[in-house]
Order: sequence, then structure tokens, then C-alpha cells
Amino acid sequence: MSLEKCRFCFSTDVEKYFDFGKQPLANAYLTREQLEDLEPSYLLDVYYCHECGISQIGFTVSPEEMFSEYYYCAGAARTTFHYRIALAKKIKAVLNLKEDAFIVEVGSNDGSMMKCLRECGFTNVLGVDPAVNLSKLAEKEGLNTFNAFFNKQTAEEILRIYGSADLILCRNVFAHVPDIHSFVQGLKNLLDEKGVIMIESPYLPDMISQNAFDTIYHEHVFYLSLKPMKKIFQFYDLEITNVERNKMHGGSMIYIISHSHNGMPNEKINDILAREEKYHANMVEYHRFFQNAADIRSELKYILARLKSEGYRIAAYGAAAKGNVLLNFCGIDTELLDFVVDKNPLKQGLFTPGTHIPIFPTEKLVEEQPDYTLLLSWNYKQEIMEQETKYRAKGGKLIIPIPRVIIE
Ligand SMILES: [Zn+2]
Repeated sequence: MSLEKCRFCFSTDVEKYFDFGKQPLANAYLTREQLEDLEPSYLLDVYYCHECGISQIGFTVSPEEMFSEYYYCAGAARTTFHYRIALAKKIKAVLNLKEDAFIVEVGSNDGSMMKCLRECGFTNVLGVDPAVNLSKLAEKEGLNTFNAFFNKQTAEEILRIYGSADLILCRNVFAHVPDIHSFVQGLKNLLDEKGVIMIESPYLPDMISQNAFDTIYHEHVFYLSLKPMKKIFQFYDLEITNVERNKMHGGSMIYIISHSHNGMPNEKINDILAREEKYHANMVEYHRFFQNAADIRSELKYILARLKSEGYRIAAYGAAAKGNVLLNFCGIDTELLDFVVDKNPLKQGLFTPGTHIPIFPTEKLVEEQPDYTLLLSWNYKQEIMEQETKYRAKGGKLIIPIPRVIIE
């Protein structure tokens, strides 16, 4: 089944440019008992809308199936921790909010960002997250969390109980929601007259220029750039007034948005729109993106198979969703990899979806000292290199798959 029309503008002028075939859910880790069961898999392909310029996947899995129990825990990596603290400080300095300003964080996960906001002095922060397990973690820390999917109805309920929001923060959640209209309408209704919406999301042009195809999975319905974002918000009488790029998740964009009558877009917006044009003029960049991903797949498989045949032992680092996408796309499983290590205790003892590789704590890397380790969390390369000095000092080598395959 292919995508018939764009979820935002409803145009039927949509064109497929990336095809993964059928894939399991990238966060659907398995217990040992589940390994024997039939594992569900779903079509995964990406389309460009020639009318509004947005990229989106064709087939969506129900959000309830993906987010009610959630293993991605924002708290895990050190790089993201430092980033959150800096962001909270910036929010305080740049947005000029009072300490009792009402802040709503949509997709608050385990409350890691809310905690940083609290440490910066903000006293009135509400999280919204559908994952029962993560909301409980946040509540334990004394962080007020509304356990629900954010949409028009949830926004109305929050508005009724708490009043309008001075700041609505959406970090890596906006692109996850298939019903984009209900989500943006909810933001519009909940936002105070003088309030600000701050959205952070992977930036598609960065994804393409870095060959970061492993960002594509069922949870990510949309792949965003400024042009379609501007259209979406203008449709609801909201205006993007400023943007900022950062290096998170292989390249992200922060969008600052307010009610249209309150904000004018700054100069930067037009500059970025002009630079984005090559991604909207034709499909060249998109087709090249798919070709590059296919090339990485061939090269990586060839290298791993050769090393294995020469008797080397190979493991992997980072059982995150993106790692699972790469493994499944490339067809790398227990034939080539002995195990994968991950810092997140929620995942240890489980198996990777589709490829069934056992997940262990990171200490196993030094204990077992495999000859090569495939770095699936290539976006945390620096941090991992620093942590694994022992492994590397004993001769362990890292295989970095993206943006291109290299061995260090
Ligand atoms: Zn469209």
C-alpha cells in the first residue's frame, strides 16, 4: 500500500524516494521467550510531497502500539545531558520568561528536560507523555506529568485545568505524530496570547548530507525542513520567528514560533529558505540519498563478512532505534555480530528487533574484547571513543558506518 495523499496538505502529488521494504518496529526489543514468536513487520518507505515540500513515511503504525511502553530513555547519554542543561539556561536567558511561567513540555519522556528546567529555577512545569513507564519515572522525581498523547483534546484539558502556556516545548516529538492537524491545533489553542512554542526536530537537509538514513523509522512520520514547517504553522495563524541549528541527532533545527500577530520572521529565515531550495527544486538530492544508503549497505556487509571469514570477532555498540534500522536495512544479524552493548539498563538482557542480537551492558566490551565493534551510535562517536579507551588500548577497533564506512 503506498501513500495516496500528503497528511498535511492532502495533495496527491507525492513521490516515493526511499524504500526499506518491510521492517520491524525499531524500538520493539524482544525477550528470549519472544524470539520464537512471529515478529510483526511493516512497510517502511518515504515520500516527498511536491505541493508543500514535506517528507513523510507511507505507512504508519498506531501510536498506541509504539509509545505506550517506551525504551528510549532521554536520561542515558552524557552528551544529551550537557545539551539539555545548556538549552534550559538558554530558554531562561533568551525567552525572558519569569520563573513562575507556565511551561508545558510535550513528549517529556522520563522528565530529564523538566528536571533541567527546574534546576534553572522554573517552578511551574508540566510534562505530557503517553508512555506509562516513563511518566512513572518522572512522577517519582516529583515532576508533574500528564499521561496522554498530545492533541487537540489533551490541549483543551490542560487549558481547562492549568490555563494557557507561556512556553510549549516539543523536543523530538513533533515529527512523530501522524495527525499533524490535531497536534498543531492543540498547540495553537494552548498557547498564551504572548506565548512561545519551541520545536526541536532532526533537520532533513542535514540528514541527507550526512547519509543519516538510520533516522528513518516508523516512529518518525515526518522529515522536516523550514519550508513545509512555515506552511504548516501559517495555516494555523502561527509564525516561525527564529530558527537555530544544532548538531543533535546528526543535525537538528529549533523553531521558535508565536501567534502571527506577535512575531515577524527574522532575516535568518529567508537565508535558510533560499539554501533549502535545492531540496525542493527537484528530486536529485533525495535519490542520491537512497543511493548512498544502498552503497553503505553493500560496503558494510562486505567488510563485516570478510572480517568474519578471516576469523575475527565482531560486536556492536548502541542498541538504539537507529542502530536497529541500520542492522535491519543492511541485513546484519547474529551470523556477523556476537552481541551488542548498550548503556540503557532497560534494554540489557533483551534482543534487537528483527536481527535478534543479544544486548549486554557496555562492560562486556572489555570483558570479551572483540576484535571489531560496529559503532551503531555513530552520532555519539566522540563520547564513546573517550569512554572505551581500555577497549581501544587493547587493540579493539571501531567500525563507523555513517556518514561513510571507516575503521578507526
Ligand atoms: Zn503536502
